[in-house]
Amino acid sequence: MKQRPVVVWFRNDLRLADNPALTAAVKTGAPVIAVYIYDENAAYAPGAASCWWLHESLKALQSAMAKLGMTLILRRGGEAKIVRAIVQETEAAAVFWNRRYSAPQVEIDKNLKNELSNGDVSVKTFNASLLREPWEIETGSGTPYRVFTPFWKKLKEFGPNRVSPLPAPKKLQSEKLIESEDLTSWNLQPDNPNWAKKISAHWSPGEFTAINTLDNFLENAIDAYGDGRDRPDKELTSRLSPHLHFGEISPNQIWQSVQHGMNAGNFSEAAGYKFLSEIAWREFSYSLLYYNPSISEKPLRPEFAGYPWRDDPNGLGLWQRGQTGYPIVDAGMRQLWRTGWMHNRVRMIVASFLIKDLLIPWQHGAAWFWDTLVDADVANNSASWQWVAGSGADASPYFRIFNPITQGEKFDPKGDYVRKFVPELKNLPDKFIHAPWKAPEAVLAKAGVTLGNNYNNPIVDHAHARNRALAGYSEIKGR
Ligand code: FAD
Repeated sequence: MKQRPVVVWFRNDLRLADNPALTAAVKTGAPVIAVYIYDENAAYAPGAASCWWLHESLKALQSAMAKLGMTLILRRGGEAKIVRAIVQETEAAAVFWNRRYSAPQVEIDKNLKNELSNGDVSVKTFNASLLREPWEIETGSGTPYRVFTPFWKKLKEFGPNRVSPLPAPKKLQSEKLIESEDLTSWNLQPDNPNWAKKISAHWSPGEFTAINTLDNFLENAIDAYGDGRDRPDKELTSRLSPHLHFGEISPNQIWQSVQHGMNAGNFSEAAGYKFLSEIAWREFSYSLLYYNPSISEKPLRPEFAGYPWRDDPNGLGLWQRGQTGYPIVDAGMRQLWRTGWMHNRVRMIVASFLIKDLLIPWQHGAAWFWDTLVDADVANNSASWQWVAGSGADASPYFRIFNPITQGEKFDPKGDYVRKFVPELKNLPDKFIHAPWKAPEAVLAKAGVTLGNNYNNPIVDHAHARNRALAGYSEIKGR
């Protein structure tokens, strides 16, 4: 009798190696049907820059699968409806997937699992995207952690729950092919104008590049990561974030490679664990997302709901376009627009500026990031915005207000980063690169800068804005 196939539903796990749902399906010996579903109306559907990445990542996965003899079936529409239809079409015996952690996605998966399991279809789910799932890392009293340091301590003690990453299958047997849509018909990529051309110069999505990016980082940069990770003028972070978001690489693979590098003496333990602790921030964000389903909309500290925010569409537009008159802020926002990514230190500076200097609700900033980042991730984005706002778990205290001038001077001391993304300031001497309005007229003239003409005057006075933000905070403190 012909064996009924197993459907593997790919989501943000666009890789062949260390993919437990895929490995388990191959292990059954039954024909495997690999499916990806794109639902543009789903909760947390990707923004524009992420759609560009998704297209490229699916293309890479399709071609990697084709080499092993398999077709990735593409379907567009409501997820549950499509999975049901595919199960019917193929008479599948089982559906396997890797788990997700946001409330609307958990709900879809849970309902579908119940429904299919009540029929004669077996459903198996796995952990592919976290070192440990939220319910595995809890406090002694069984509650989720709200503070990062003890969370990290426990995670480090437990390590990942798969000892070594799973190899990619050598052969994929797909017997009964069903109809697939054409990836280009999904229009994930812009054409007129093709703004993604600029972004595509900086990235190469897919599993192959993800692994290479990790290897390069471990070979060339990790030793300098401890201090270097705060320097936007240097390339000392891994740039793995979009690869991790789309699941082209797993944190488990990263953990194992770092352990291997430390054991072999390729880099110091301090450097290795510093890097892994950042991977742990991602895990912490996922735990926060899982236990706080409204984290992308509502402040985790309820008193922040009453903060006296300003309605300032003009300020928001100037921030989005990188025209605030604060060079480090403008450089960050233009790096984001041009490359689909921004350095972490600068993300903190621009977020603090929007929230505390302009008093614009953090949700507006998070929404802009969602549309423009190639690594936009609901857990990391929401938790990080709330961290800067002071409304999150283990957040930066509200009164810690980033000074865009001193931050620039400290982390971009020669102004290389600013000069790269704000070329109209490139001839200013280092001394004034982070505060052009302090430069004497003659210096500005010599550098070709006319404030208010080819570069903006600061749109707010930072000292005044700081006091205004603190006054707003004292209104809600103790509520
Ligand atoms: P590395 O320093 O090389 O770190 C390795 C990995 O660890 C990253 O790829 C990321 O997965 C994880 N990581 C590092 N720092 C953090 C952090 N603070 N919180 C959570 N995970 C972290 N990261 C996203 O992946 N998606 C987002 O949408 C996102 N939005 C952010 C918004 C704001 C306001 C801020 C301040 C930070 C945000 N981050 C986000 C976190 C961080 O800025 C990026 O993960 C990092 O800059 C990615 O670059 P990298 O891969 O070179 O990082």
